Amino acid sequence: MSDCIFCKIIAGEIPAEKLYEDDEIIAFQDIAPQAPVHFLVIPKKHIAAPADVSEEDEKLIGKMIRIGAQVAAENGTGDAFRVIFNNGAKAGQAVFHIHLHILGGKDKPWRM
Ligand code: AMP
Repeated sequence: MSDCIFCKIIAGEIPAEKLYEDDEIIAFQDIAPQAPVHFLVIPKKHIAAPADVSEEDEKLIGKMIRIGAQVAAENGTGDAFRVIFNNGAKAGQAVFHIHLHILGGKDKPWRM
C-alpha cells in the first residue's frame, strides 16, 4: 500500500535496521525500543491487522513466529522473550501493517 510506512520499509523507500529478510518476511529493529531487544517481524504481504488474517495466511503467520524466535536467539534473548501482536487502535496498534513485536534481553522475562 502506497501510504503504509512498513510497505515503504519493505520497498527500501525508508531505512530500517534489518535483522532478517527473505522473500516473504523481514525483521527489523523497532525505532523506539521498549526493551533491550525489541524488533518487529512483518510479512511482505500487506495485511492490516491480526483480525484481517485469512486462512490462506496461516502458514505465513506461523513463519513470522518461527523466524522471530530464531532472530531473538541470534540477538541474545536466550529463551526469555515476549511475542506481541496489537490489534486495533484501542489496543495500541499504531501501524496498520501486521507486525509481531519481539521483546526481551533482560535477565528476567520482560513484563508489561
Ligand atoms: P504498534 O503500536 O503495535 O502499531 O507498534 C508499531 C511499532 O512500530 C512501534 O513500536 C514503533 O516504535 C514502530 N515503528 C514505527 N515506525 C517505525 C520505523 N520507521 N522503523 C522501525 N520501527 C518503527
